[in-house]
Amino acid sequence: MTVQEAIALAGELGFTHAHELNTGKLEFLQEVRKMCEENRCGKYGRSWSCPPGCGTLEELEKKAGKYARGIIVQSTGQMEDDFDVETMQETERLQKERFFAFAERMREREPDCFPMAAGSCTLCESCAYPNPCRFPEKQMPSMEACGLFVSKICEDSGAGYYYGPQTITFTCCVLW
Ligand code: SF4
Repeated sequence: MTVQEAIALAGELGFTHAHELNTGKLEFLQEVRKMCEENRCGKYGRSWSCPPGCGTLEELEKKAGKYARGIIVQSTGQMEDDFDVETMQETERLQKERFFAFAERMREREPDCFPMAAGSCTLCESCAYPNPCRFPEKQMPSMEACGLFVSKICEDSGAGYYYGPQTITFTCCVLW
């Protein structure tokens, strides 16, 4: 699948923005991974999509290193003010819904592709971790769990990350 085809698919599925990812600039950073260990989201050690269940940084870096193509896909919401939690949640929901569909379509064309989401897997109401994952073929780690500094990936790829005052943007990517 070409990057242009993937960008067209992202547009079809409703993402606000889609941009080629510069795979040559990917850096898997311990400091990002350490933020997961601080467990501010409460998912550390509680999901197969998060550390340590998603694999070591070295394993993820090795896996990602074999891909030549990548795409960044984003959903941006316009908030009424800085405390517009409703828009934040709705934009996150839309991004998850779109990305789940996008990853499915990408896997049909590129079965070995590597989708990385925004945040922990929410396919099940409660993650089975540490018991076996219920949908190992569908679950995916978050970009942060892989040690990726999302705003830097966007910058290095020439993609946007900040889209103006009182906007909220969720970012995911796929490598293939
Ligand atoms: S599919 Fe279910 S069991 Fe697997 S990581 Fe996601 S929430 Fe956890």
